[in-house]
Amino acid sequence: MKKLRCPQCDIHRFYVRNEQYDKVLVNVDENYNVIPLNPDDSLVDFDLSTLYCLGCSWSGSPKKLKGGSKKIY
Ligand SMILES: [Zn+2]
Repeated sequence: MKKLRCPQCDIHRFYVRNEQYDKVLVNVDENYNVIPLNPDDSLVDFDLSTLYCLGCSWSGSPKKLKGGSKKIY
């Protein structure tokens, strides 16, 4: 699986939040699927439209990540 990377700091680990401000660590694959690092974690009720980078202050849509199949960097 190819993982998409942060446009600012180039790492591929992010987290998502729900309304209770819980966090789940995720990767994003080349088809923009958000995948929990821990397979036991559920993403139900989490907002998958906004990712938060673990390495820097970047946050935004999965479509803004580097390395997706639609573009070549
Ligand atoms: Zn980053």
